[in-house]
Amino acid sequence: MKTIIEYQPNITDKNKNISEKYWLRENDNKTSYVFTCRSLSKEYELKQSEITNIVRENACIKVLDCQCLDCGVINECKTRFELTNLDISNWRCDKCLKAFNERQEREWREYILEQERLEQEQHQAIIEGLKRYRAEQEDATPPFGELSLIDKLLLMAIVESLGSDNLKTTLSLADNLQRPLSPLYTMDERVLKHLFEANVLLLKPLDSLDYVDVTESGEIDVDLDYSQATFDFAYDAKDITDLRVKIKDQITINDLIDNVAFRDWCENIQLAECLSYLIERSRINGLAPPLGDKMMSLLQANLTTYSVAELCRMIWMAVESASSYSNKPSITNKHASNSIYTILQSNIDRVTNGTWKRKPFNREVNLPESAIAKVFFDDIFKIFDCGFKYTLDDLIASLGIKRVSKEDSYLTLGRDQDVIKSLTLQLNVN
Ligand SMILES: [Zn+2]
Repeated sequence: MKTIIEYQPNITDKNKNISEKYWLRENDNKTSYVFTCRSLSKEYELKQSEITNIVRENACIKVLDCQCLDCGVINECKTRFELTNLDISNWRCDKCLKAFNERQEREWREYILEQERLEQEQHQAIIEGLKRYRAEQEDATPPFGELSLIDKLLLMAIVESLGSDNLKTTLSLADNLQRPLSPLYTMDERVLKHLFEANVLLLKPLDSLDYVDVTESGEIDVDLDYSQATFDFAYDAKDITDLRVKIKDQITINDLIDNVAFRDWCENIQLAECLSYLIERSRINGLAPPLGDKMMSLLQANLTTYSVAELCRMIWMAVESASSYSNKPSITNKHASNSIYTILQSNIDRVTNGTWKRKPFNREVNLPESAIAKVFFDDIFKIFDCGFKYTLDDLIASLGIKRVSKEDSYLTLGRDQDVIKSLTLQLNVN
């Protein structure tokens, strides 16, 4: 560090002497002062503050190797404190520092405004993209009369479960406190996704901002959260109301017997009923059985022979047995949970070989009939909760019997006691 002391022209000898001693340092080091303020105070019989004031008013130290970054002026220190805290390589004079701070503040404000502008621009691009997406959906919506039977039934289930009061929009699955759409969330999602992709449920642009990503090429990528998303119906309330009134008259027995998709949905609804019961009973007992293809295949295979109500009894007994098993020492919760599959299989075997009698369970109060079960079973076969009580083949067979005997569509029969009798009869014969 290179420094020189400069004195005021009219300085007295005493003050010059004080100033000289005040700034005297070994080897011109920043903080190696030869005299402390206290020693100077004693020597001159002055207060320390008086010493500092004398120096500040009569002399300053010029730091020759410290220049203002902007204007190049040489730094001057009037107190030891200033010199100690001086950053030689990064110093600005007061005037330049003020200008520098103002410049930085201005640049920061401009940066924030630019960010806001970009965000606004992106927000606007997303809204425009969503509106285009919606318009493309509207263009691709099938005419109401050309909707497939399955799509009509699924639409009815959604109206029943999630339809808003004005029949224009849906509630989200998360907000629905009425009849559940289906027995399982995965099936709820499947139904909504199916009709969304079929352009029967339409995206609501302003409600869908959270589900959108913009790709590098500026295209929007919609990835819906089906538990939270709400939709507009592609058809007006009158069409939907007409469908509710007429759909049952528009379906013939051939629509059902020959319709692979109808069978597939019905089988999946019954499977979902069993799974949701299994999950609920297991949860109550603190167990969590694996729900992979193996379990599904076991249930699906037996749903052709047993009703959901009968399988629920076998599931209940299997979970109770596994729960007792879990109380034994050295049996972990995982062991007990895994044992549910084997116990269930052996329970089914016992019923099949006649060791145990077939007995149905009643529906659990906290697992009410879903809208999809009502539409695909009750509304078609005209029997209350028949998807729970009967197998699909028994239901279809019962329609066949009525149709042959009266040469009439089963649909004109209404909720006919004969149908129930024929079903009960078949179940007893089995
Ligand atoms: Zn400057």
